[in-house]
Amino acid sequence: MHYRGRFAPSPTGELHAGSLVAALGSWLCARRAGGRWLVRVDDLDPPREVPGSARSILEALREHGLDADEPVLYQSQRETAYQAAFDRLRADGHVFACWCSRNDLAPHGGLHRDGRCITPPLDDRPPAWRLRVPDRTMRFEDRLQGPCRQALREEVGDVVIRRADDCWSYHLACVVDDAFQGVTEVVRGCDLLDSTPRQILLQELLDLPTPSYLHLPLALRADGGKLSKSTRDLPLDRADPLPALRQALRFLGIERPRGDSVSALLHHAVDDFDPQRIPRRYSAPWPTAYGVA
Ligand code: GLU
Repeated sequence: MHYRGRFAPSPTGELHAGSLVAALGSWLCARRAGGRWLVRVDDLDPPREVPGSARSILEALREHGLDADEPVLYQSQRETAYQAAFDRLRADGHVFACWCSRNDLAPHGGLHRDGRCITPPLDDRPPAWRLRVPDRTMRFEDRLQGPCRQALREEVGDVVIRRADDCWSYHLACVVDDAFQGVTEVVRGCDLLDSTPRQILLQELLDLPTPSYLHLPLALRADGGKLSKSTRDLPLDRADPLPALRQALRFLGIERPRGDSVSALLHHAVDDFDPQRIPRRYSAPWPTAYGVA
């Protein structure tokens, strides 16, 4: 099967050094495999969205030489597909309406494991919808992190797939869209490693193919925190993409990136990149300025 990879940013801020690693990692895996690279904008959560950030993320990707091979998919336009998936899960008895609040769940370790709502239905507020999670240990082999396992009911509990505020959950939308775009491998940050088993469960329940997975190490700040949009860590220098690009290439295991332009760097990187050489964990903190080897 022809390789199809993707990068799926949420428009909650600017592209930053950490998300550039995920974008570049997925792009390199796709190019290395002679496949296609797609971009999906995860704009499903209007309360968290920063206006203008979807456009600005796409521009920043382009400035760093990362152009999608097909038109960008916007999750905000995929309502019908999520509704169809939800209806199927509901018809098959896999979901239930739930009015439990965080407080209701606090005595249960914050997790919902009963397969049914433990709070009486409330007239004044719509329910969330949860997936009834089986008592089952999910296992999968991550291409970089190796064998992974998660006892779903114990560790995750019944997963919300449609929120009470009417937003579709990321998990449902993600599996529906990965299948729709024909994604054969998901390359993304390790912060989503523990979301993968519940996504594989959803694929099984919806008869969707399971892609392979490769979870990249996270770029960390010196204090151990993750680089993120919300903490405004190391924004990319839109006027000069080269230092950030070199840094991200080193992070992905290319010791000496070659080339003095965006296109030359990327061109050589496709030859020099070897997914086996990506460090599984990244222990050194991300430098506080670009250009530090
Ligand atoms: N939109 C998600 C995020 O930015 C990533 C989704 C994914 O790669 O599966 O964290």
